[in-house]
Amino acid sequence: MLVVGVREGKCGMLSVVEDPMIVEGPTIVEGATIVEGATVGFDDSGPPGVTTGEIGDVVAGLRELVTVGVTVSSVAHAKEQLDLYEQISRLAEAGQVQVLGAVDASGVYVEHGHYSATVMQRHQTQSSSATATARDKTRRMLNQCDQIAEVFFDGKIGVDHIRVLARAFSNPRTVDAFIQQQHRFIQWAERLACKRFEARVANWVRTNDFDGPEPNDRAHENRDAKLTQDHFSEAWQLRGTSSSAVGAEQREILDAYIEAEFHKDWEAAKAVFGDDVCVDKLARKPAQRRADALHQIFLDAAANPNSSARGKTVHNIVWTAETYAEMLRRFAGAEPTPFDLDTYRCSTVDGDPINPAEAFIDSLTSQIRRIVIDARGVVIDMGEARFLTGLARLAMQISNDECCWPGCHLPTTACQADHILAHTKGGQTDQHNMVPCCAFHNRTKERGYTVWRDTNTGEIHIVTPGGEQIQ
Ligand SMILES: [Zn+2]
Repeated sequence: MLVVGVREGKCGMLSVVEDPMIVEGPTIVEGATIVEGATVGFDDSGPPGVTTGEIGDVVAGLRELVTVGVTVSSVAHAKEQLDLYEQISRLAEAGQVQVLGAVDASGVYVEHGHYSATVMQRHQTQSSSATATARDKTRRMLNQCDQIAEVFFDGKIGVDHIRVLARAFSNPRTVDAFIQQQHRFIQWAERLACKRFEARVANWVRTNDFDGPEPNDRAHENRDAKLTQDHFSEAWQLRGTSSSAVGAEQREILDAYIEAEFHKDWEAAKAVFGDDVCVDKLARKPAQRRADALHQIFLDAAANPNSSARGKTVHNIVWTAETYAEMLRRFAGAEPTPFDLDTYRCSTVDGDPINPAEAFIDSLTSQIRRIVIDARGVVIDMGEARFLTGLARLAMQISNDECCWPGCHLPTTACQADHILAHTKGGQTDQHNMVPCCAFHNRTKERGYTVWRDTNTGEIHIVTPGGEQIQ
C-alpha cells in the first residue's frame, strides 16, 4: 500500500492527495502519519524483503576484502578468485535488477519527477543510458521468464549473457517462442562463452522470426541517421540506415561528390608533377576525400537559397572566460598553461566538446559566434556581430546544456525556455530567471515543485512538494 503525503507551502499544513501520475492508483490513507523529511512510505502488510542495513553489511564486508587486496599463488588459486568475484558481480547485478523492479512497482520515482524507474536508477547510480536500458530490458524479461529468473538470481548466468537474452527477448515477433524455450537458453548460457552464446541466440532469433529479420518494407520503416560524438577524441561519427531505393540514390549523389574531390586533388597534383602525376601523389587518401565529399554535400545544402530547411548560418561556440583567455595567451605566443577542469568549457550549446585550438582560430576568422560565460554560467560577452533572433533564449541555453531536472538528459536545444519564478507571479524574462526544461518536466513542475536558482553559484535547485531537495 503506497502512502503519498504532500506538505503544502511553508506553513507545514499536511494533506494527502492521489498522485495523478501513478497509473494504477495508490490506496490513500486519510490522516497518515508522515515521517519528517519523507513523503512516501510503505506499510508493513507486504513481504518484508531485504533491509538496507543488511545490504550495507554486505557492502562493508566487500569493501574490507578489497582494501586488503588479493594475491595469487597458483593457477587453481587464480581460477578460484576469478570465479568468486564473478559470482559477486552477477549477484550484485541481480540485486540491481530487483531494486529496479521494486522501484517500478512502487511508483516512488514519480515523487522526484523522474519519467520512469529506469531514469531514476540511471540518475541515482550515475550509469550510462546503455546500462540503464539493458537493465530495464532484463527486468522486463525476468518478469515473464521465471526459469531464467531462477538461475540468474542464483548467480548461474553472467551479466553479459543475461543482456544478450534481454535483447533477444525484446523482439516482439519471437517473444512467445522465447518464453516457451527458456530452458534452451539456460543450457547454452551455462555452457557457451559470451561470443558464441550471442551468435547462437542471434541465430535462434533469425530462424524463429518467420517474417524474416528485415523484410523490404521494414528497411524503410527502420530508416535512421545518427551523428554522434566521441567525447575523448572529439571526432564525430555518422551512421545511417535507409531503404534500398533511397540508399542507392544517396550513393549516386555521394559518388559524384567523391569524384569532384578526386578531380580537385588530381588537378592540384598535376600542377606540381606534370605528366608524372599518379594516385600516390594525391594530397588526400580516398577515405579523407569521401569524408570531405560528404561535408561538401552539407555545405552545398546550407548554401542553397531554395533549401527546404531554414539554414542556420551562425554556429555558436560557448567558452568560459578562463578557457578563452588561455587560448588568447597561447595565440599571443605565451607558454601554454594547463586548463582548469572546474572552469574549462569549449563546446556547442548542447555541451558537445569542440577542440579549443580549432574553435579559437575559427572565432577569429569565420562566422562563428564566440560566447563567453562566467563561473555562474552567465553570459558576459557575445563576440560576433551577426545576431539572429532569440538572444535571450540562447543566453538561457548556455547556462544549462540539458533539461534542468536532475537525471533528465534532453539537450537544451530540444527544451522549452521556462520561467523559474512564473511570469504571472512577477518573474522576469531574463537569463537569471530562465532555465531549459523539457515538456515532461515543465508539466511535472506545475504539480507543486519549487525550482530556484542559487544566485551565488548559479545552480538550479528543485524541491519536492514534501520539502525534499532532489539531487
Ligand atoms: Zn526533462
